Amino acid sequence: MHDEAEILGQFDIAVVGGGVMGCSTALPLARAGHKVALFERRGLGLEASGRNAGSLSPMIKKSELVAHAIEGYRMWMSSKDWLGVDIGSHTKPGLIVAYNQMEADALDRLVTDRCANGAQIELISGKKATEIEPQLSSGVTLAAYSEVDGQAESNRTGQVFNFALNQAGANVFGHCDVKHVVNNNGNYEIHTDRGIAYSNKIVLAGGAWLEGMTSWLGFSLPVQYKVNQMIVTERTPELVRTVLGVQNGLLTLKQAANGTIVIGGGWQGHGDLENGAWHVEPEAVVRNLQLARFVIPQIKDLRVVRTWLGLEAVLPDYLPAVGAVPDVDGAYVIGCCRGGWAIGPCLGSLLADFILGRNLRLPIFDPGRKINAEPFAAAGSASKGM
Ligand SMILES: Cc1cc2nc3c(=O)[nH]c(=O)nc-3n(C[C@H](O)[C@H](O)[C@H](O)COP(=O)(O)OP(=O)(O)OC[C@H]3O[C@@H](n4cnc5c(N)ncnc54)[C@H](O)[C@@H]3O)c2cc1C
Repeated sequence: MHDEAEILGQFDIAVVGGGVMGCSTALPLARAGHKVALFERRGLGLEASGRNAGSLSPMIKKSELVAHAIEGYRMWMSSKDWLGVDIGSHTKPGLIVAYNQMEADALDRLVTDRCANGAQIELISGKKATEIEPQLSSGVTLAAYSEVDGQAESNRTGQVFNFALNQAGANVFGHCDVKHVVNNNGNYEIHTDRGIAYSNKIVLAGGAWLEGMTSWLGFSLPVQYKVNQMIVTERTPELVRTVLGVQNGLLTLKQAANGTIVIGGGWQGHGDLENGAWHVEPEAVVRNLQLARFVIPQIKDLRVVRTWLGLEAVLPDYLPAVGAVPDVDGAYVIGCCRGGWAIGPCLGSLLADFILGRNLRLPIFDPGRKINAEPFAAAGSASKGM
């Protein structure tokens, strides 16, 4: 004999996944008066949304996402206004440097393309870049500079959304693992390890775990993931003034408000969907530090205090999925946005508008579009390439 499953309630809209995407969608829906339930198997914002580098950087986003990234930037910069709590955002100029002609040509193309899509970026000489960022190593041939950049304390994502969702009257089910979902002609049964909930609509926002979620509804989204690795140094007096990147994409670097230097890059650690991101790749740490020291030589004097990892979901076309699940009434998907923490608040509010039947101020990204399912290199494993 087994116990009957506990009934967790009947809701208008259920959101599965409590990262930035799920929370940013749930919040405006709850504020619009809907009975919203959000299910998160850990705590809010403990996966990618709380482990990322907190860079806002609209200039490095894909051209289709520049407008969304600028809106996301503005939302994080004014988080107290719409969340009721400040996430700890700081405006800082963004700088991307090139060290050779090939990188300079690529930077030139990037700036032309992003500016055509509304970004505010200028190309500056290596000399000017060094005036802006005095500790830069010599040899910068060209740089892209943008005033519209900054960073925020993304490790507080769960905390700030928990506050806002509770204020908005949303039902947050933390430590509640959704095992599967059954579509009963538009009344969804959400089977969790704590019982069953019912909902008229469902939003799947599972980050790297999104493909498994869409399969509950018979839809296949070809989600891939990267195991991004981060490094943080001990505190130091002001050393880096900008949100700094290298054109080849293998380095992002900035100084946090507490004086530590936060270093990320193109090298990967180890992880999988079953165990999460679990194993730092030492070779990747060394290579990432070597490049950081090459760009800002004084970093060689600093001790590393911590490294960590997280799973970043992407689709093979590097565009997000935000919209309706094809051929399934009342079901929606949001996720797989590269650099998606910065853009998340914008995408979540767009999906909420879409669900509410409101006009959309920016395009969303049809999950049912034809997506080339070619796997990219190094998904889910350590990348050895530089
Ligand atoms: C190390 C690292 C650095 C990054 N740096 C940046 C950066 O500087 N700037 C930037 O903009 N972006 C950055 N990103 C990307 C960004 O973090 C992600 O794009 C974004 O956080 C994705 O949000 P999400 O809500 O889709 O996913 P997640 O935050 O992963 O949320 C998905 C949630 O779903 C939950 N879940 C999964 N399965 C279930 C289930 N069965 N039942 C209930 N809940 C479930 C998970 O527990 C998780 O909390 C970085 C990512 C990483 C990993």
